[in-house]
Amino acid sequence: MAARWICRARHVMVVTGAGMSTESNLPDFRSKDGWWRNIDPVTVATVEALEKQYELFHAFYQARLEALYEAEPHQGHNILAKWEEVGVVSGIATQNVDGLHTAAGSEQVHELHGSIHSIRCYSCGQEAELHAFHEGRGCDSCDGKLRPGVVLFGEMLPQKAWDEALKQIEQADVVLVIGTSLEVYPANQLPWMTRGRTVYMNMELNADASAFDAVITGKAKEVLTKLDKKLELYCANN
Ligand code: NAD
Repeated sequence: MAARWICRARHVMVVTGAGMSTESNLPDFRSKDGWWRNIDPVTVATVEALEKQYELFHAFYQARLEALYEAEPHQGHNILAKWEEVGVVSGIATQNVDGLHTAAGSEQVHELHGSIHSIRCYSCGQEAELHAFHEGRGCDSCDGKLRPGVVLFGEMLPQKAWDEALKQIEQADVVLVIGTSLEVYPANQLPWMTRGRTVYMNMELNADASAFDAVITGKAKEVLTKLDKKLELYCANN
C-alpha cells in the first residue's frame, strides 16, 4: 500500500530519527542499547550541562564523535539518496546530527538538530577545529567553552532548516517517518503538519503509531530495501 502511495505521489517527504542510524552502529537514545545506560542523555545534552557540568558534557559528545569515525551510511540511507536522485523524494527532515544522509548523497537534507561535525565557541560563537574540541581546549579568541553545533535541549531549532522542512511537509502527498520515538518536540509535530498520507516505519510501536495511515514495523534498512523492490514493481506498472 505504501509503495502504491509513493508511486502515485508528486512529493514524498521523509522524516528520520536516531533509529535510521542504529544500523550504522550509532546507538539511539531510547532503545535498550541506547546511549549511556546509566546516564539519561536528556540530562547531558542540555545548556545547563554545558554551563555547569562541562566535563560530563564534553565526555558525552567526545564519545558520540568517536563512534562516528567508524560509521558509514547503510543501504537504507543509500536508497533514500537514490529516491531523491530519481525524483521520488523531495527532501529529508532529520533529527540526526551525524551527517549520514548527506554522506550517502542526499542533497535536500534539513538538519533540524544541527550537526555534530561543526564546533564553535559557546561564548563568542567563533568556529573552531574538531581537534581543539577533542583536546578539551578553550576558544582561541576568548577561552570560552567549545561545543558541537547540535541543538541542545532548551535551545531553538535552526529557523532555516525548520522552515524548509515545514514547507516540504505541507506540499507532500506522502510523508515517511523512519526510526524515531516521536518524543522530541517540535520535530515530533512534523508528521501531523501534512495533508498527505503518513507512513511510520519503526522497530517498535508507540502511542502515536495508530494515528498514521500505515505502519511498517521493522528495521529501517530492511524495510526500505523491501519498499524499494516494491517500488520497482509498482512504479513500472503505473
Ligand atoms: P529515539 O532514540 O528517541 O528513538 C529511536 C527510535 O528508533 C526508537 O523508537 C527505536 O525503536 C527506533 N529504532 C531503533 N533502531 C531502529 C532501526 N534499525 N530501524 C527502525 N527503527 C529503529 O531517537 P529520536 O526520536 O531521533 O530522538 C532522540 C534525539 O536524539 C534526537 O534529538 C536526535 O537528534 C538525537 N540523537 C541523534 C543520533 C544521531 O545523530 N545518529 C543518535 C542518538 C540520538
